[in-house]
Amino acid sequence: MPELPEVETIVRQLQSHVIGKVIHCVEIFRPDQWKLNQANDVTKRLKNQRIAAITRRAKFILIEFQSGCRLIIHLRMTGKLIWFPEQVKIDKFTRTVFHFTDGSSLHYSDTRALGWLIWLECGENYPSLNKLGVEPLGDEWNLDHLKALCRKSTQEIKLFLMDQNKIAGVGNIYANEVLFRSGIHPQRRSNTLMDEEIEKLFRFIPKILELAVEKMGTTLGNKVSDYRSVYNIEGEYQNILTVYGREGQPCIKCGTPIARIKQKDRSSFVCEKCQK
Ligand SMILES: [Zn+2]
Repeated sequence: MPELPEVETIVRQLQSHVIGKVIHCVEIFRPDQWKLNQANDVTKRLKNQRIAAITRRAKFILIEFQSGCRLIIHLRMTGKLIWFPEQVKIDKFTRTVFHFTDGSSLHYSDTRALGWLIWLECGENYPSLNKLGVEPLGDEWNLDHLKALCRKSTQEIKLFLMDQNKIAGVGNIYANEVLFRSGIHPQRRSNTLMDEEIEKLFRFIPKILELAVEKMGTTLGNKVSDYRSVYNIEGEYQNILTVYGREGQPCIKCGTPIARIKQKDRSSFVCEKCQK
């Protein structure tokens, strides 16, 4: 599932290709992925819209048009946005294609078709965006705020890190990596963390996410459903994962085999010796 670094990579790459482009037409092959049954109207509304800005909030991609209308895309599990400079044949997982007036196109592809798109008229809001927590790569990232959040939560710290209403954009892979680097066991209750442990989280969350953006994200396998950038290229962070997916392999710090435990149906990877 694309997390903050993967979505940020996609957004940055899109910024360099599609800003200023004008939509010629839109082909929708899976109307059910457009929220609120918008598919019919949206093909008309998108025509001739010029892209003014592309930004990210948590794992949401926000495309803003010069008209003030916006498009929100959530990739969920297997969604991808692939940019093509010229016309290409679509494959069976292509769900929506945005054709630009210069002949280039942006393909929304989604193997499992669980992602979604939503059109917002000028001035219209999408309420879930307002509930999102702090952006770890944003200016508002602040140690006192993180301490206050930890102190009033009894959630297990890994679930806390993945709670989008507390910290925006962190998912399972990077939560595991951050906790290993911080020496904190994923099942610790958030309100039991010492100040110095919260300080480590405060440092390592943006540090790991920034490095992952630099590596253009994590692609876990080579299936068509696995994450790819806008150029249909794999990320590189999977080559430097320290614990995620390394069950039974030696801890890079102490050699103890990495254990796998379940938390809310998701796997956590932990060195029981290094993480307390
Ligand atoms: Zn260890």
